[in-house]
Parts: sequence; structure tokens; C-alpha cells
Amino acid sequence: MIIVIAIVLLVAWYSVDFSIHKWFSIALIVIIVSAVVFGDLIHNRSQKQKMYYKNIIDSSSNIVVVVDKNSIVEVNKTFFKYFNKYNTLEEFKKENRSISDFFVEKDEYIYRDMDGINWLEYLIKNPKKNQVKIIYDEKVYYFTVGVSLISAEYGHYSAIFSDITKEKLYQKELEYTTITDPLTKIRNRYYYNEQIKKESANANRYFYPLSLVVFDIDHFKKINDEHGHDVGDNVLVEYTKLINSHLRNGDIFCRIGGEEFTIILPHTEKSGAYKIADKLRVIVEEHKKVVPITVSFGVVEYIKGEDLEQTFKRADKALYEAKNGGRNRVVVR
Ligand code: GH3
Ligand code: MG
Ligand code: MG
Repeated sequence: MIIVIAIVLLVAWYSVDFSIHKWFSIALIVIIVSAVVFGDLIHNRSQKQKMYYKNIIDSSSNIVVVVDKNSIVEVNKTFFKYFNKYNTLEEFKKENRSISDFFVEKDEYIYRDMDGINWLEYLIKNPKKNQVKIIYDEKVYYFTVGVSLISAEYGHYSAIFSDITKEKLYQKELEYTTITDPLTKIRNRYYYNEQIKKESANANRYFYPLSLVVFDIDHFKKINDEHGHDVGDNVLVEYTKLINSHLRNGDIFCRIGGEEFTIILPHTEKSGAYKIADKLRVIVEEHKKVVPITVSFGVVEYIKGEDLEQTFKRADKALYEAKNGGRNRVVVR
């Protein structure tokens, strides 16, 4: 830079006459050169500042991106730890529009168009609903996202993605074990209690019928005694799988005790519930795998506003009658 200035000054000195014009020209050149030098200094300084902030953003373990509504403008290093097929943003942009291309569309998460509202605007209005699920390269990640508008002029937003995959998977595991029977993998008593509350509330509200089936394996103690506890366990696994495969979507099948089960049948009247239970009774009787078994059923229809313990007691009483009536049968009350 110094050399260029010297050359410019020399050329100016020899090319202009000694006169007032010469001094004027030199002053002009000095002003121009100063402006260039000053501009250069500012440019260098802002470049340095830019690098300084980029280094800070790159050191973050969160994904930091600058985006507008349709595309991605800037990303930090961590971005490429996840989207590891790409080395530069340009490579990423050749195949994708933005990070939101990878958001999974599910009610509990943020995705690209939330009922026609762009995810960035949605997040600014609803900062509490801030989780996204991303699937990239067959891997699943969960993040919380914070968004802020950084340039209204360009419509640029910064978005910071904090990885919560570990916590989310742990939470999901916990939820699963809370509602699942470890032996048969069907839902447990806790889930039954939760769901019967929910389904009866819906039945009351929307005036649809709801039935409850309670069933119990006949002489199961004898199976354990004759074949051993492990075979008894296999019977439970085998026959729950069988029954599960014959239920409709929306029917709720739970193991509420040792060899005692419930099926909640939404949108089903007593007569329909009887048919389903009797069909299952025959399927079980004819299956004859592991050890042949039979099952007894009690069936009731939920009465609007009825106490749920009372509903269950009625079904259990019907089951008791089926047992007393000779087992391998369905009693409806
Ligand atoms: P009923 O026809 O009257 O129902 O007779 P039952 O023998 O089936 O009924 P009871 O209540 O006398 O016996 C139930 C048996 O179920 C006793 C218990 O050891 C067995 N049982 C409960 N849970 C399990 C389990 O998880 N695995 C195995 N193998 N057996 C279990
Ligand atoms: Mg039994
Ligand atoms: Mg029993």
C-alpha cells in the first residue's frame, strides 16, 4: 500500500507544473489516498471483527444458522457435525433449501409450515413450543430452537439449535416403561386407568358408546404347576400377541394383573363388544400353541356419568359369572 502511494505521489509530482494547480492536485491526491488507507483500515478492522465473532459462533456446540424464510445464509462449524455429508454451505445449498427441509412434520414439533405460518414467525410468536425433530442420514435428533430477527431489512433470522436428543430418548424410554408390561409388551394397569378416564370423558362428551371387556385365563395356576413358570410366561406372551393381532386400531389392550386383562372398546355397544369377545374366545381356544388354553370374559357397556370403578366392578362380576358358569365363555352385563 505504501509503495502504491509513493508511486502515485511521484507521478503526480513530475506530471504536474509547479503552480497553484500542482499543490491543489497534490492535496486532492493526499485526500484520496488517505481515504483509501482509512477505508482499508476500517475494512481490515471489520474483517477482524467478523472473524472474531465467527470464531465465537464456531466454538458453540449448538448449531447456529442465519436463515431467511426460504433459504440458509450462514452456518457455524457445528452445523457440519450433523450434516456431515457436506463440507461447505454451498455444497449443502446445492441439494437443499434450508435446515427446515429436515424437520419432521409432527404435531408436537415445529416444522416448515405450521398451518401456513413459516416456522421462524411461528417460533417468534410461540417461543415455548420450541422443539424440532430432525432426521438426517437415517439418524434422529431432537433440538430446542431459539429464533430472533437480526435484520428486518433482509428478513434474516438467527436460529440456535440445542441438542436434547439424549434427554428426549431417556424421557421416551421412561414414558414407555411407565405404561408397558415388561413381559408381554402390551400396555399395563397404569395405562388402563389413564385411558379409561380419557375414553369415558370422550364418550360422555361426544355421545358415543364405549364398552369394557375383562378377561382371565382359565386354570392358569394348573399350567404353571404342570409345565413350570417359564412355560406359563410363554403362554402369556403367545396369547397376548395372538389377541393383539385381532384387535382394531383404537382398541386398548392392557394386562392389569397376572393373567387378567382388559380391552377398552371405544365406539362399541354391548352387542358389538360381545361379538368381539366371543370371536377372541374362539380364536384362543383354537390356537393351541405352547399349551392349549381357554379364556373367560366379562363384558359391560359404560353408562354415561358412571363411576369408573363401578364400571370395572360390573365387568369383573360378569367375568366371575363366566367362571362360575363353567369357564371358556362370555357373560355380558
Ligand atoms: P381361574 O380359572 O379361576 O382363573 O383359575 P386360575 O388358576 O387361572 O386362577 P388363580 O388366580 O388361582 O391363579 C392365577 C395364577 O397365575 C397364579 C399365579 O402364579 C399365576 N401368574 C400370575 N402372574 C404370572 C406370571 O407373570 N407368569 C406366570 N407364569 N404365572 C403367573
Ligand atoms: Mg385365571
Ligand atoms: Mg386371575
